Amino acid sequence: MNRYSRRSLLKGAALPAAGIFALPSLARAIQETSTPQQRPKVKITDVRTAQVLVHGPQTHVRIYTDQGIYGQGESTDAAVGTASLVHGFRRMLIGQDPLNVDALWEKIRVQGIFAGAQGGQYITALTGVEIALWDLAGKALGLPVYQLMGGKFRDKIRMYCDSDMENPVGAESDRKLPWIKERGFTAMKIDLDDATDPARFDKVNWTASNGEIDRMVSWVKHVRESIPKEMDLACDMHGRYDATTGKRVAVALEPYRLLWLEEPVPPEDIDAMADIRHSTTTPICCGENLYLRWGYTELLQKRAADIIMPDIQKVGGLSEARKIANMAQAYYVPFAPHCVVSPIGTMASAHVCVTIPNYLVCEWHWINHLEVWKTFVKEGEIIINGYVTPPDKPGFGVEMNEEVAKTVQIKGTTWFEPNNT
Ligand code: MG
Repeated sequence: MNRYSRRSLLKGAALPAAGIFALPSLARAIQETSTPQQRPKVKITDVRTAQVLVHGPQTHVRIYTDQGIYGQGESTDAAVGTASLVHGFRRMLIGQDPLNVDALWEKIRVQGIFAGAQGGQYITALTGVEIALWDLAGKALGLPVYQLMGGKFRDKIRMYCDSDMENPVGAESDRKLPWIKERGFTAMKIDLDDATDPARFDKVNWTASNGEIDRMVSWVKHVRESIPKEMDLACDMHGRYDATTGKRVAVALEPYRLLWLEEPVPPEDIDAMADIRHSTTTPICCGENLYLRWGYTELLQKRAADIIMPDIQKVGGLSEARKIANMAQAYYVPFAPHCVVSPIGTMASAHVCVTIPNYLVCEWHWINHLEVWKTFVKEGEIIINGYVTPPDKPGFGVEMNEEVAKTVQIKGTTWFEPNNT
C-alpha cells in the first residue's frame, strides 16, 4: 500500500490543528533551556592568495578578519589571471561583514558586469572568494558549512574516479583499473578524444572518421569488460566534436549502458546537444564550462542534457552551485559536479553536495598526483571507500598542509602575502 496516498496526505493535513496550540509553550520551553548566542561581530581585514599547479592551476584564497580567524577557498582553471582579479576585489571586501556571503558575492558580480562578469576568469576569481567566505562563516558561527546551507540529505557523497589515461588499453589501464576498484570507487571515467589517433584525417577539424569511432568503441568495450559489472562508467569527449560525430558515438555506445557521455559537442551548441540527447538512450552530460545560473537556463529549458556537471570551483561558488542544482531539480535533472581540485575544494564541494537532493556523483581527478593528494590537508586522505564525508567541524573542517602545498606552488607567484599582486 502506498504510504503517502493522496487520502493519507489530506488526512494528515488536518493534524497540525492541535499542534498549533502547543507551539507557543514548546517555543517558550526551547528558549528557556537554550543559551542564546550572539551573532558574532567580525570584519574582513585582508584577502590573500596562493597558486598551485597540480591537475591544472588552482588559486587558493584566504580571507582574514579582525577576530583572528580566516576562511580558505579554492578556484580552478585560469588561475594566474584569477589571483590578480581577487586582489582587485579587496577594496569591496575589506571592512565588510563576511557573514553576508551572498550580498558580498552579488556586490562583486554586479561591479564587474561591464568587465566580463558573465563568466570566465572574473567568475572563477569570485568563486574562490565566495568559497573562502563560507569557510569563514562556518568558523565564525562554529558550524559546518553544510549546516549553514540548510542541512544534510546524506552523510557522505559518492565520488567517481577520473582515470586520467592517455590510452585506456594497455599497461597504464592494467595498473589503474584494479586500483580504482580496490579503492572502493563505484564509478569511473575515461576520455574518448585522442588528438594523436592515426585515423584522424585532419589536425584541426574534429569530425570523427569511422576509424576513430571504432577506436572509441573498442576503448569503452575494453574498460567495460575489465571493471565490475556494477561499476558505472562515464566517457568524456571534451566538447571537441561536431553534432554528427556526437550522435554517431552516442548511438554506437548504447550497448555499454554508460553513466553518461560527456560534452559530445561544445556546451554552447545547446540545440546540437539537445538533438544528440533526443537521438540516443546514452545519457548526455554537460556543464563544466558553463557559468552561473544563466549559463544553465537554456540548457535546462531545452532539455539538452540528462545530467548537469557544473564545476563548483568556477561556476560561481557554493550558493550558486546550489541554486543551479535546484533549477535542475525542477526539470528532474541530476547534479554531478566536475571537480579537479585539492582536498580543500573537494571538501567544499562535499559540504554543498550533501545539501542537494538531486546529487548524483562528484569527480575526483588527482589519480596521477596521489602523494600530493594524500598530504595536501593536515587531515590526510578524505576519500574513504569511494566517498567523502564532510566533518562536523566548523567551516569545511580541513586545513592546508602548507609544507606540501608549497611543493606545487606556481613559480613566480606569491604565497598568502599581504597586498600581493
Ligand atoms: Mg569534461
